[in-house]
Amino acid sequence: MTAVAARVPMVAGNWKMNTTVTEGVALARAIMERCAAERDVEVALLPPFTHLWPVRDVLAAGPVLLGAQDVYWEDAGAFTGEISPAMLAGWCDLVLVGHSERRHLIGETDEETGRKVAAARRHGLLVIVAVGETEAERDAGATAAVVERQLDAVIAAAVDPLRASDWVIAYEPVWAIGTGRTATPDQAQEACAHIREHVAARIGDAAPRVLYGGSVSAGNAAELFAQPDIDGGLIGGASLQPDAFATIVAAAHAAVVR
Ligand code: PEP
Repeated sequence: MTAVAARVPMVAGNWKMNTTVTEGVALARAIMERCAAERDVEVALLPPFTHLWPVRDVLAAGPVLLGAQDVYWEDAGAFTGEISPAMLAGWCDLVLVGHSERRHLIGETDEETGRKVAAARRHGLLVIVAVGETEAERDAGATAAVVERQLDAVIAAAVDPLRASDWVIAYEPVWAIGTGRTATPDQAQEACAHIREHVAARIGDAAPRVLYGGSVSAGNAAELFAQPDIDGGLIGGASLQPDAFATIVAAAHAAVVR
């Protein structure tokens, strides 16, 4: 493990394409009631684009961060259906880029992910960059090479060198996302430690926070977050359940104070 200055844990809830606006506002309220008092864990909610503005009003009363699930790399123009970082800057705290569903379902390339990160940073948005290998890549022993390639594309595209406070990395093995097959704490730790070392070697700054994502639940979060190189989680399915999400946030808190 590379020593880095105070890595405040983060638990980010990626709602994906779930909930209506009304349901999303109610979900944000329920999560706020359970998590807003948490001061030593950064909690972030990533609702669909349509919900961002009303959810922002719900979150305004507390420390929970607001994030978008994706962003385009241009600021404006003829890009039907896309949302630019200029549209989010100033009222949205962060964006998620490179989620495996965008890479593998939508066909987003490493190069496009890099352009999105660079654009978001130009507008001062904190970026969560998701990386991770498929099951076939893991079976072929290529996990380290895949995450290095994905990270290097982001580092190469950056206009200004990325500092640890500019981005958060989420290690999300594709085979664990939404499948109920969580990586073992050892597997997650090994990959997160490798990511930390690789990034520290490449950018020469303290490595950013590294989250684990992939079927994190109320039952397994504590064991995962107890690993020395795991700084919290990117949560999909369980972020739609306020009680489960609050238990996961509490596990991140317990990992800090232990
Ligand atoms: C995700 O969407 O990033 C994710 C990790 O999903 P889940 O927790 O449902 O596996």
